[in-house]
Amino acid sequence: MEARLPKETYKSLLKTITEGTPLDPDVADVVANAMKDWAIENGCTHYTHWFQPMTGKTAEKHDAFIEPDEKGTVIMEFSGKNLVMGEPDASSFPSGGLRATFEARGYTAWDPTSYAFIKDTSLCIPTSFISYTGQVLDKKTPLLRSMEAIDREAKRVLKFFSKEPKKVVSYVGPEQEYFLVDRDLYSQREDLMMTGRTLFGAMPPKGQELEDHYFGQIKERVASFMREVDEELWKLGIYSKTKHNEVAPAQHEVAPVFSTTNVAADHNQLTMEIMKKVAKRHNMICLLHEKPYEGINGSGKHNNWSIGTSEGENLLKPGKNPKDNVQFLLFLAAIVKAVDDYPELLRLSVATAGNDHRLGANEAPPAIVSIYLGDQLENVVEELVSGKKTKEEALGILDTGVASLPSLSKDTTDRNRTSPFAFTGNRFEFRMPGSSQSISGINIVINTIVADALSQFADELEGSTNIHHDAMDVAIRAFKKHKKVIFNGNGYSDDWVAEAEKRGLPNLKTTPDALPYFASEKSLNLFEKHGVFTKVETQTRTEIMLEDYYKALNIEVLTMIDMAKQQILPACLKYSKFLVEGVTEKEALGISVPNEKASVQKVSALTEALIDNIAALEDVNAKVPEGDGEVIAKYYKDAALPAMADLRATADKLETVVAKDYWPFPTYVDLLYRI
Ligand code: ADP
Ligand code: MG
Repeated sequence: MEARLPKETYKSLLKTITEGTPLDPDVADVVANAMKDWAIENGCTHYTHWFQPMTGKTAEKHDAFIEPDEKGTVIMEFSGKNLVMGEPDASSFPSGGLRATFEARGYTAWDPTSYAFIKDTSLCIPTSFISYTGQVLDKKTPLLRSMEAIDREAKRVLKFFSKEPKKVVSYVGPEQEYFLVDRDLYSQREDLMMTGRTLFGAMPPKGQELEDHYFGQIKERVASFMREVDEELWKLGIYSKTKHNEVAPAQHEVAPVFSTTNVAADHNQLTMEIMKKVAKRHNMICLLHEKPYEGINGSGKHNNWSIGTSEGENLLKPGKNPKDNVQFLLFLAAIVKAVDDYPELLRLSVATAGNDHRLGANEAPPAIVSIYLGDQLENVVEELVSGKKTKEEALGILDTGVASLPSLSKDTTDRNRTSPFAFTGNRFEFRMPGSSQSISGINIVINTIVADALSQFADELEGSTNIHHDAMDVAIRAFKKHKKVIFNGNGYSDDWVAEAEKRGLPNLKTTPDALPYFASEKSLNLFEKHGVFTKVETQTRTEIMLEDYYKALNIEVLTMIDMAKQQILPACLKYSKFLVEGVTEKEALGISVPNEKASVQKVSALTEALIDNIAALEDVNAKVPEGDGEVIAKYYKDAALPAMADLRATADKLETVVAKDYWPFPTYVDLLYRI
């Protein structure tokens, strides 16, 4: 931009990007022209407004730069108007009943805070997506609104400390987990193709029990995939930094350098897209589903979140002496308060059909939202709350006992992998999000609830004459009131479930339990106060999320029935016929084969059970009640999930007794180890 724009235009645009000032309309024409030249020089013929509808995916409609001129030929044109605004038909995107289909008009609006990029031969312009009536139809707009809320409220608080940053920004670094599977094997599994996860499959003899995959050597095929992903991401200005093997076989992780939340959300969408694309070039498929395989770990997306000023101050940095760092303690208290005030919102921001298989299993934090501060800060909070001195934590030096090795200075806090919302030194790591989710919704919630806590603190401190004392007082009161949400222990243990219940923390186990809170009066008041969502928007979004849930389950049910009836059952029948023929022939020769006979009986009994299980699941699917999304979602949870589990259990038993040659699709051994 600096190289291609006139100085004044560049400065003006930069001001919009870094300080959030409204865009000067004259700037758009100049920027559009420079963008077009840059894009054409790099082989582009088209441009597209790139946006993020409520599908959780991205959308793009490409237009060529060509404009006919009066000579009957064309010129390459891209005006400021084309840059700033687009007008795609909005009727076929999820709106949660917001509009009737005939009310089709929608608009896209340029988001100058996220950089344009080139994909294939198109210039892609990140945009917001809004309906004709002004209702928001996407995930970016409310995210930007929530970032403005943080900016506004954090600035109010910082003012008490005589700081006036140009902007306060929330930052995110999302760690992305995923599985890779061989493409030919994948294409033999209808469940993977239709739903992204295996609906059948017996456990392989070796799972993740040897703990040999995490940080293990990366297989050559995977390494070359990772290298190409990095290159593609770097080309797009996405600073992919960390890559490694994850806990489960064939599971991996990639993480970029953190950026502003808005950019991080755009980049994470692109990252997922690139990973899928590049995997295919290597004859593999990248699985982003939260739980592709039962019995081994699923995939999450750890959302590392912090707030800082445009001048570079990280507001979550405890400093050398956190106990006396009033400003830090106030921000920390705001986050503790936010998490305790709105655990339902945090929980529902990660509620999807896929993620329900993860949360609470022994691999991801439970569905109970709590916050981990680590020993050092826990002690500080304890001292403040009780007024008593706790034991002083000496900053540790780790001695390896080997003279030639350097001694290491320890971090002030250990890690807690079991906590859903863990302080990690200068940021919080929200560990509940699922691997396939857009991170927008999650960060809309985090930004808004923290902005709300900050705004309440600012209200209290308005007019204070002794800010040091009063701010400390506000922080201490907040810690006292919200202490119950702080938990430093093992979040995976059953004790914690009981303890959390005693403390009165909600445990919303499934998506249908959690989603209705989104449109509750409490949430609505919050979102309206900070201008993030209107009432209609919360209601329609709830409806969309519920629909996503039961539609996902419906597709799973239909896929299971298909596979069971058309693949598994015929295979079992064929195999038992083969067994029966052997037994009959041998008996005709007078050879006694009681054990073989028993095998036939076993296969037959299981096959009978399979037929019953199929019928039961078909029955469930035939009886879906009439009603709104909540009713249908609850029905699928209560009726379909158990029937699916029954069918799977029988089929998985059959898999272990039917000969491999007869089994109609690749097994877990193939999928997890043949890469
Ligand atoms: P872990 O050891 O937790 O797996 P990773 O290195 O995989 O850590 O990922 C950590 C992520 O946190 C990276 O994306 C990193 O850029 C991000 N991060 C680091 N500092 C901050 C910060 N201040 N705010 C937000 N994200 C941050
Ligand atoms: Mg990591």
